[in-house]
Amino acid sequence: MPLKILIVGAGVAGPALAFLLQRADPLHHITVIERASALRATGLQLDFKAQGMPIVRKMGLLDAMRAHRVDETGAEVVGAKGESLARYGIRGDSGTEGVHSGAVTNELEIMRGDMVKVIVDASIADRKKLEESGGRGGGLKYVFGTSVKGVVQKEGEGVDVTFQDGREESFDLVVGADGQNSRTRKMVFGDEVSRESFKELGSQVAYFNVPRAETDGTLARMFFAAQSRAILVRNGGRPQTQVYLFSQENMEKTKASYGKPVTEQKAVWEETFTGAGWQTERFLEGMQTADDFYAHQLAQVKLPALYKGRVVLIGDAGYCPSVMTGKGTTSAFIGAYVLAGELARQAPNVDAALGSYNEVMKEPVKLAQIISGNVSLPSSSLAVWCIRNGLWAASSLGIDKLVMRLMPEQKDEKELGGWPLPEYPELNLAE
Ligand SMILES: Cc1cc2nc3c(=O)[nH]c(=O)nc-3n(C[C@H](O)[C@H](O)[C@H](O)COP(=O)(O)OP(=O)(O)OC[C@H]3O[C@@H](n4cnc5c(N)ncnc54)[C@H](O)[C@@H]3O)c2cc1C
Repeated sequence: MPLKILIVGAGVAGPALAFLLQRADPLHHITVIERASALRATGLQLDFKAQGMPIVRKMGLLDAMRAHRVDETGAEVVGAKGESLARYGIRGDSGTEGVHSGAVTNELEIMRGDMVKVIVDASIADRKKLEESGGRGGGLKYVFGTSVKGVVQKEGEGVDVTFQDGREESFDLVVGADGQNSRTRKMVFGDEVSRESFKELGSQVAYFNVPRAETDGTLARMFFAAQSRAILVRNGGRPQTQVYLFSQENMEKTKASYGKPVTEQKAVWEETFTGAGWQTERFLEGMQTADDFYAHQLAQVKLPALYKGRVVLIGDAGYCPSVMTGKGTTSAFIGAYVLAGELARQAPNVDAALGSYNEVMKEPVKLAQIISGNVSLPSSSLAVWCIRNGLWAASSLGIDKLVMRLMPEQKDEKELGGWPLPEYPELNLAE
């Protein structure tokens, strides 16, 4: 039975779900709303891990994603003069001479904006094809510059939604795909549950692009500075260089800046990073004119359940694993795939499908959220010295495992990879 579905958030998870729902049943009426006035096709490098690649392959989007591949050849840790302290190859490419197996770089790295556009464009192209082939009924639309003001659940029937502009509409199902600070989560589970589910990891991160410099090669470069600060720089053959600032300093001031104008947020990051060393001044200067600056605190979302009534959460909104795990995108795809799959399998029983989605997701969410590496950045100059020299020594001696302890993203890859992806022939996908 076709459903009328509202998806809140046109990031990664929302459009992926829209694509999959439409494939499963072209008669669904799907509306994706996005708070921003246009698609937020910004953000830095994302990758696919474990089940991410198989899902994208099933969706038939692997070639389109590969066409936007960022050409990163590995990673290195650098010292204050930019000297290389340790080098790592591409994950899965352990045979590269002179470098250790991959710690940061994956087989398929892609800019977030390109990834979002690939999924949105594919979902729109599918709809066009359906219309051109005379398919009647159903629909998919993206609406920008709007969000939800309130929801009222109707026992076993659906949800009455009030939009910001006062318009009201009823849906069979509402999906919150509105990121780690999800308002849908707050609206449905209440302030207290939402606040308790948000587990801060004690770090902040800012992302932006700066003009490329001659010295920016195709290796990602990581620099540790005193006072719990670190900088990751990635170029991968692109005209701009991506900068990630990680900090465990100035936390209260940084947190207080979220929601304020971007210039005020940038001022706090400038204050925190001034004097950090290496090429920091260049990055801070570039940050001032960057139009894609995005900062947030690192956190995980751990809810007792992923749905309430006919409102369900996917992606960071429901189970954000955080950048520390590097599994946010993969988890977003898994959630979209499982939710669409269960809705198709259990049709027309939406409530049963939501129950199954909640059950099936428990294991991958648990595995994706494991952080077993060291999440503390070195605070004193001595600690930084020890890290730099420890990395240099470990790398020179080839002690990969010791080095990997400092790279939380690397951990537990096998465990999530060991979770068997359910098959949903009902989704009518390529494989
Ligand atoms: C602009 C941006 C840049 C990012 N850059 C990076 C990065 O460089 N590296 C990285 O690892 N991760 C980044 N992320 C996060 C990353 O995309 C996610 O962790 C992951 O891909 C899971 O995707 P998601 O769809 O669940 O959430 P997101 O990708 O965060 O998407 C959520 C979407 O919902 C929209 N939204 C939020 N609130 C509302 C609302 N009330 N109503 C309607 N829409 C709403 C947001 O504008 C956004 O488009 C970024 C996210 C954003 C929004």
